[in-house]
Amino acid sequence: MNLYDRLAGGFPADRAKPCFLLSDGQALSYGWLEDAAARTAARLTSEGVQPGDRVALQAEKTPEVIVVYLATLMAGAVFLPLNSAYTGAEVEYFLADAEPRVFITDPPGYARGAEGFAPLSQAVPRAASDLASLIYTSGTTGRSKGAMLSHGNLAANAAALHEAWGFTPDDVLLHALPVFHVHGLFVALHCALLSGCPMIWLPKFADAEVLAGLSRATVMMGVPTFYTRLLANPQFTRDTAAGVRVFISGSAPLLPSTFAEFEARTGQRILERYGMSEAVIITTNPLDGDRIAGSVGYPLPGVELRIGGGEDTGVIQIRGPSVFSGYWRMPEKTAEEFTPDGFFITGDVGRQDPDGRVWISGRAKDLIISGGYNVYPKEVELVLDELPGVVESAVIGVPHPDFGEGVVAVVLGDGDETAMIAEARRQLAAYKVPKRVVFVDELPRNAMGKVQKNLLRERYAGLLSI
Ligand code: AMP
Repeated sequence: MNLYDRLAGGFPADRAKPCFLLSDGQALSYGWLEDAAARTAARLTSEGVQPGDRVALQAEKTPEVIVVYLATLMAGAVFLPLNSAYTGAEVEYFLADAEPRVFITDPPGYARGAEGFAPLSQAVPRAASDLASLIYTSGTTGRSKGAMLSHGNLAANAAALHEAWGFTPDDVLLHALPVFHVHGLFVALHCALLSGCPMIWLPKFADAEVLAGLSRATVMMGVPTFYTRLLANPQFTRDTAAGVRVFISGSAPLLPSTFAEFEARTGQRILERYGMSEAVIITTNPLDGDRIAGSVGYPLPGVELRIGGGEDTGVIQIRGPSVFSGYWRMPEKTAEEFTPDGFFITGDVGRQDPDGRVWISGRAKDLIISGGYNVYPKEVELVLDELPGVVESAVIGVPHPDFGEGVVAVVLGDGDETAMIAEARRQLAAYKVPKRVVFVDELPRNAMGKVQKNLLRERYAGLLSI
């Protein structure tokens, strides 16, 4: 099997039907996508890309990113998307670690250059266990890990979601998510392709375009920030939402207050689901049935979920067809994060009701999720600790009215806040840059000398609120 063939099996028989509905009123059909992908696959092959080779991409969101993604699958190669916010130094690390055969930064140009190629007649056959994509998730040690997802992992999850969320060819998906992350690239895209439905394709979340799109959409997928932004806009009303059969949220916790406010405004309950790069979607609230604020719902069919540690609440462990096979070139790290009986230790803390419903209470480590993006404190601390005047830094997430959490640096030492933020911005993707830097004479520590970040989070909880 090749994941491409599974997805293409869902394309509409009439390939003239639209796949991408663009903001300028133009549409690109399924026929366009299929042809462009097959030609781009031929170009990749002619440039020496072999099955198993990595094809890296860092670019703004365009339909051609999807062309390159599907072409990579067709060629039997491994797609490596990189966050468009990564700096040159950050990208260098990924390229050195993944050793891609090709690195594409201009997908429209690359696809145009493939127009003269004869389309690849058939996707290269792949085993279910062959790699389809490498998704980097930053590590708390500062070293990013590449989660290895296979054709079988992605096909299984796509089929399960398509079923669970009741997609049909009559749907229209509002797609405003980035496509370098599993949420936009796999969760949203695969549901649309498998049902052969069109996507309202927005380069990013912008109020006016999203509001306009909602008048035609039947499904919206977003991070919680999308929903808080919609609610902050008085033009978002019950009527605006009336044609949408389901609003889906994930990638970060949806605040119960957002859930309640959304229901009060629209009469609809947001469907929250839980996932991660290492397993795509793990649990979901039901399409038909109770969607409960603060709960991420039930494990998808085929997913075994249990709570480690012997208490009611503990670290969630999972096993199932979508769970990745390990971290790229990190066999020891991989071994540490799987139990002897093959369950992946997610690092998320939660509990499960007797009927199977799952509740997530936090993260085992100190991961910060700002606007749906993961920020690993250690990575920011390593940058700050190099700056003049800094003895030691402790980076934490505190409540932020727009992003859920915002990054704050507590610095032992002294310096100039504005200059420090500017320097951090030079070295780090914008979403990782501290919004505030606070200088202190002492960091709270436990008996082992470890900084107690929970105390810092309490102390600075109000720092970024209005
Ligand atoms: P990523 O690998 O970037 O997709 O990040 C995955 C992490 O996001 C998970 O391990 C969770 O900590 C968090 N996450 C995703 N969805 C939810 C959710 N619905 N509620 C709480 N946390 C979530």
